[in-house]
Amino acid sequence: MRFIYFCIVVLTILFPYTSFANTSLNIPIILYHNFNPTVPGSMTVTPQKFEANLKLLKEHGFTFISLKEAVEYLQGKRNTLPPKPVVVTADDGWESVYTYMYPIVKRLNIPVTLFIYPGSISNEKNFMSWDQLKELKGSGLFDIQGHTYSHPNFKISKRKLSASSYEQYVTKELVISKRILEDKLGGKVTLLAWPFGIYNSYLENEAEKAGYVMAFTIGYHTANRSFKPMEQPRFMIVDNLMNQTFRIILNGT
Ligand SMILES: [Zn+2]
Repeated sequence: MRFIYFCIVVLTILFPYTSFANTSLNIPIILYHNFNPTVPGSMTVTPQKFEANLKLLKEHGFTFISLKEAVEYLQGKRNTLPPKPVVVTADDGWESVYTYMYPIVKRLNIPVTLFIYPGSISNEKNFMSWDQLKELKGSGLFDIQGHTYSHPNFKISKRKLSASSYEQYVTKELVISKRILEDKLGGKVTLLAWPFGIYNSYLENEAEKAGYVMAFTIGYHTANRSFKPMEQPRFMIVDNLMNQTFRIILNGT
């Protein structure tokens, strides 16, 4: 009897998440864009509100996991995750991620995945430099993944371009982006966030051909295994919908 008790204790220590083994977990993936303490904007969150969001999730028993861990689970490569997993992501590459988001996630030790479109980096105003991105990656908290090269609206591009030009354009946006991020920052880029949340079966196929294994869109739903790998939803944080969004996330529905 003592031996059985001993075995249970050892197994619990070795595999702390075993009791949460479950193939139908729901994982809220939260999407931020820009941060600013004073200048408001619909996709701009104050650092204070951002920190309050994170603390609220912690208070409700959520565990921050990396997007890579969530992807492994969604792909069926692992069946266990910490209790109430939640993922933080930020799109585009705004400099405010470096200025305001970085100090907070460093203090609270929270993993973040950034979806970057390289056309903006060290190029557009208010966007990060390659050195800043390298520093974020070097911190061990940030993973950098793809968001196409120039953040196109694929619906508009399709209308404007001939069929063959459109196909070349899509390939370039998906392939070159991945190549630049890998060359500049090292590591593999296998995840994609659809610009403006626009996707269709053609784009999904092209993304798979380019080497992406999972893609993320916008949708007020938790990610789970019932979604297609190229259509996993994320909760986009918009200022005037923040409270409703967090109510959904906290309720797990
Ligand atoms: Zn974007």
